[in-house]
Amino acid sequence: MTRPKVLDKFRDVQTELARSGSAIFRDPAGNESLIIDFPYSIRYIHSYAEDSPFFLGLAEGRLRGSRCTNRACGFVFATPRSHCMVCGQPTQWIDLPKKGRLHSWTTCHFGSEAFLKETPYNLALVEFEGAGSLLLVRLKECTEPEIYVGMPVEARFESNPRYLVTDVWFVPTREGAGSRR
Ligand SMILES: [Zn+2]
Repeated sequence: MTRPKVLDKFRDVQTELARSGSAIFRDPAGNESLIIDFPYSIRYIHSYAEDSPFFLGLAEGRLRGSRCTNRACGFVFATPRSHCMVCGQPTQWIDLPKKGRLHSWTTCHFGSEAFLKETPYNLALVEFEGAGSLLLVRLKECTEPEIYVGMPVEARFESNPRYLVTDVWFVPTREGAGSRR
């Protein structure tokens, strides 16, 4: 009788799953969980509906937000919304600056399947001149000790767009690399 390997590091579990298809994860309290690799696929036809201009924009190297059409309000959303969360009026699409500053960040040492190969990776909240809300986006080309609040950052776009939020990410604005705002 065979029993899957017992492992106490989830990375080792992943390696074992790829090798044999099953493993037992033992947590610090000694609980053992059987984990299996069960291939599963689904064809997901998804409409972006009124969010479409955001994703089409990324493919053109544009970062699009929205601005409240109520002149008395004019709130600018860095994460676009169809209606203003301040006054409830409709918004219109605008182009955001491609440069901003780091508002906050976290370094992820684990992630969903799509990001496992990138771990550890940085998730950032970027603020833009004139915008009242923030954009949640990956921050690349830097490691945790180099990152600081207020760091100038700029957008990079996927050259082969897949119409996913991962079509955009930010990197630190380097000295001498292009103009600074
Ligand atoms: Zn408004």
